[in-house]
Amino acid sequence: MIDYQQALNKLRANVDTLPRKRVKIEEAAGYTLGQKISARADMPTFDRSAMDGYAVCHADLASATARKPVWLNLIGTIYAGDPARPPVRSETAVRIMTGAGVPQGADAVVIKENCRESGGRVAVQKPVGPGENIRRRGGEFKRGAEILSAGMKITPPVIGLLATDGHASVFVHRKPRITLVVTGNELIAPGKRLRQGQIYDANSVAVGAALHEMGLKASAILRLKDDKPALKDALARALGSADVVIALGGVSVGDRDFVKDIFEDLGVETIFWRVAIKPGKPTYFGRSRSKGRTKKTRKLVFGLPGNPVSALVTFHKFVKPALSQMMGTLDEKPIKLTATLQKKLRKNTSRLEWVRGVLSTRRGKFVVAPTTGQDSHMLGGLAHANCLIEFPRHKTSLGKNTIVEVELLNWKV
Ligand code: AMP
Ligand code: MG
Repeated sequence: MIDYQQALNKLRANVDTLPRKRVKIEEAAGYTLGQKISARADMPTFDRSAMDGYAVCHADLASATARKPVWLNLIGTIYAGDPARPPVRSETAVRIMTGAGVPQGADAVVIKENCRESGGRVAVQKPVGPGENIRRRGGEFKRGAEILSAGMKITPPVIGLLATDGHASVFVHRKPRITLVVTGNELIAPGKRLRQGQIYDANSVAVGAALHEMGLKASAILRLKDDKPALKDALARALGSADVVIALGGVSVGDRDFVKDIFEDLGVETIFWRVAIKPGKPTYFGRSRSKGRTKKTRKLVFGLPGNPVSALVTFHKFVKPALSQMMGTLDEKPIKLTATLQKKLRKNTSRLEWVRGVLSTRRGKFVVAPTTGQDSHMLGGLAHANCLIEFPRHKTSLGKNTIVEVELLNWKV
């Protein structure tokens, strides 16, 4: 059995980045940037006021106090969007609003709160430093500077920055087409009446929701019986149309666990099967061989164990990094931190265990406690968790108050 890090390395080495396409920025959220962005213009694009107030020559105001204000002649008003006129000379001022262009000659803006207007003049009650309250052209970045890099996730501020720099569209990596297949004679849809031996299918909706959190959607969700020919037929079709096939259940060593054999029959190359982890030991990952001369993206195939906690945790630990990599995302590492374990943990496997836990702070320090219900069918233990506690492969117990590594459970990345 390989360990998690080896499996993850193999996985990463076998994922192709999907081709790029251009999308409007309104539709770009959730994609990954397929290009670097060099600024089209200086930012800000012109000198503008950061406050509502008066554009002035700062040297006029050195002696200004509340008792002995300096009086300046008001020569006009500039609103945001107006051309920056009229020019300001010594002993004059222009009323100016936030975002309006600073007129020629002015080298500072005094805030309105320090001024009083009367009879076409303004009394300034406080001095102002040179450049104060002016957002200088190029003060944030200069034209040509790299403001965003390829591989960044497109978040709301990224979209805002693209718009600020005048980009109406951008290159992104295409999102993968995904087929989810759940297998098991026992599965029926929630809402129907259970007959003896049946259970509700949790995985297709739970993993469907995990995809949704990542900004993805399965193009097909199939619920199939443990019937080899029918399953083979469906998986063959899935491989024909999807970039990623995620089969849930039927990947272990049971008499009716057909998924791995079928994938291999269909020409999928097994990259790994069975990993030294808990939950998720039977996890399978394979890749379709590229056919002939077509240098098409090779398809990825996952077989995740059917126990719902195993399915979600292995989705999180294997499928998500693969999907992110397909979408061109760089540098997406889970956030890990250390915390004090509040309850002793034991195990009898030599596998890395991801114990579902609740991380919180106590007197400014992180503490973590395992949730109740740690078996791989007990979704409650995962539902109440906000982190995974790492129980190292070759340790058998972790005492109370041990410092442990935890990974925040963020379904969004
Ligand atoms: P399997 O991986 O097919 O051997 O299934 C392992 C366990 O998970 C069995 O108890 C199954 O009944 C259960 N299971 C499989 N698929 C699902 C599903 N979609 N929803 C809930 N439980 C499932
Ligand atoms: Mg099964």
